[in-house]
Amino acid sequence: MRVDIATLFPDMCESVLSESIIGRARKSGAIEIHCHNIRDYTTDKHHRADDTPYGGGMGMVMKAEPIHRCWLAVCAELQKPPHSIYLSPQGSVLTQAKTVQLSGYENLFLLCGHYEGIDQRILDQIIDEEISIGDYVLTGGELPALVLTDAIARMCSGVLPAAVCFEDESHFSGLLEYPQYTRPELWQGEAVPEVLLSGHHRNISLWKEKERLRVTEQKRPDLYQAWLKHKKES
Ligand code: SAM
Repeated sequence: MRVDIATLFPDMCESVLSESIIGRARKSGAIEIHCHNIRDYTTDKHHRADDTPYGGGMGMVMKAEPIHRCWLAVCAELQKPPHSIYLSPQGSVLTQAKTVQLSGYENLFLLCGHYEGIDQRILDQIIDEEISIGDYVLTGGELPALVLTDAIARMCSGVLPAAVCFEDESHFSGLLEYPQYTRPELWQGEAVPEVLLSGHHRNISLWKEKERLRVTEQKRPDLYQAWLKHKKES
């Protein structure tokens, strides 16, 4: 998969995406990520990528033209338009199911807004969907683009050692994960559940299933009820 991120702050994205699991996946070629500076696609001598809003109001609005040039340059490299997403507090709120769906695309173009937002006309022309990372407002789309890229990238083949690494985790099946433990067996008087030390695979797996249900019901009764409903219907 290839992800192109269009932003006024590419260093902010690069620094995060060069670290840890995603950084290693980029180096190994399991995923390709390019961060584009929208300012590089301006044509005036001051490299202005934003301007005051028509109709008045506070703040600045990002101009359509440099974003269009950036998107066209990516289209030309790919020889086709990528699936294009605007990170926006007005978009549909990101879920694990959505990240699974997006991980199926070969090419994603992520547009990060800043300041007051982006000229509506470029959104109307190039954007396929708007995605929010929650019902609150941030200063820019960079953190949301990083959240989305991370959530998608970890499901791409070759990024994690095996699919079970993400399939077993919270939200993938609609439930939360069971509690995890590591050495020592006894810490401050608290022991690791005995079954996990037994080496009995079937009992361990039954314990994990039971714990998933218990933890989900306790921490997220809304998810638990939705899971029960889905199970009844299927
Ligand atoms: N004026 C916009 C509004 O009221 O809908 C908010 C603009 S916000 C200050 C600047 C940029 O941050 C947006 O263009 C968007 O790219 C990004 N952003 C802010 N909150 C976000 C969220 N919850 N999810 C995704 N992107 C967000």
